[in-house]
Amino acid sequence: MTPKADVAIVGAGMAGASLAAELAPHASVLLIEAEDQPGYHSTGRSAAFWSESYGGPLVQPLTTASGVHLREGGYLSPRGALHIAGESGGAALDALERMFAGAAVPLQRIGADELRRRIKRLRDGWAEALWEPSCADIDVARLHADYLATARRGGARLLTAAAVEQAERSGSAWRISTRAGEVEAAVLVDAAGGWADAVAAACGVAPVGIRPYRRTIAQLRIAPPVPADLPLVIDAAGRFYFKPEAGGRLWLSPHDETPCEPCDCAAEEIDVARAIDRLQRVVDWRVERVEKSWAGLRSFAPDRLPVYGFDPEAEGFFWFAGQGGFGIQTAPAAAKLAAALLLGRAPDPLVAGIDHIPYSPGRLLN
Ligand SMILES: Cc1cc2nc3c(=O)[nH]c(=O)nc-3n(C[C@H](O)[C@H](O)[C@H](O)COP(=O)(O)OP(=O)(O)OC[C@H]3O[C@@H](n4cnc5c(N)ncnc54)[C@H](O)[C@@H]3O)c2cc1C
Repeated sequence: MTPKADVAIVGAGMAGASLAAELAPHASVLLIEAEDQPGYHSTGRSAAFWSESYGGPLVQPLTTASGVHLREGGYLSPRGALHIAGESGGAALDALERMFAGAAVPLQRIGADELRRRIKRLRDGWAEALWEPSCADIDVARLHADYLATARRGGARLLTAAAVEQAERSGSAWRISTRAGEVEAAVLVDAAGGWADAVAAACGVAPVGIRPYRRTIAQLRIAPPVPADLPLVIDAAGRFYFKPEAGGRLWLSPHDETPCEPCDCAAEEIDVARAIDRLQRVVDWRVERVEKSWAGLRSFAPDRLPVYGFDPEAEGFFWFAGQGGFGIQTAPAAAKLAAALLLGRAPDPLVAGIDHIPYSPGRLLN
């Protein structure tokens, strides 16, 4: 018998899992995942930080609201971030400060002496920084597992190894062909991350221009070991970031953003080498070994804002995509907002003050 549901969500990464958890008490939900395990793609490859300044002023309300849920659930641990600038980098710090002036993101200017105190063996030339004390690490694996468990408890069914190959609207339902068989649902949610446009096309829906970009992280063994209380260090000019990992290790990214096709991407040696070269211009630390490296997809709409809402031209097709580099830190608020839009209900108080119009798919259709 064909499984039927009110809502079929395509993709069980952080986006699909969080939305399934929000919808399950109100609707029957099928969560359809191409891989054997949910979380194999971007969700399992993130740098796992929560930064209110990341993504700009129209992403910040989602991040800030999500922070309430993440703190209450014990998913955040304090980290703090230093946005550092070289001799000529003051303008980048000014711009960041201006961007959040008056908003609820505390940013504090610090000079070279204080910067040296916070980053040991900092090389000359790094003149000042903005300190973002609220930045935190996120327990991504637990958050994702908890969303899946909540969805399951609410009655949602997870189908794995069930890549959606094609879907068509028939009357008031989607008939969806997956590798694991046919399913039917009144609403189809596209939460397929880097594959969001491809899934839309497979449903006969016009793509909105979501492009995946590769981002690399290397885990390094450093001598002397990295202190556990080192903040996240971000180049104000956008060439690297790094943060400590358990056991005195370092997670380092060259802040790459290479356009690519949706795929199971891997780190390229050149990007790891570039990252290490950039690190060595910042601190006098010895890189002993690259223990591992990986890459994942960050998927952006052309205006780099997420895409949540019903497609105005395709009945029953709901976008929940374009989560870029902020899909973990915005997940709780994004899922609550999207659930309200999908169900036509008043939004949860956590997101009641957030305007959803900037995220509507209609903005991307000509
Ligand atoms: C290196 C890196 C660092 C990052 N750091 C951070 C960070 O510090 N903080 C933060 O908030 N965010 C970060 N991000 C971004 C974050 O990881 C993503 O925004 C988030 O994981 C997106 O979740 P998602 O569920 O949309 O995508 P995914 O996790 O990719 O899930 C999409 C799912 O859809 C499935 N799928 C695709 N096609 C089909 C199909 N046809 N049928 C069925 N299933 C399908 C895929 O198998 C996949 O499991 C980072 C990303 C990367 C790559």
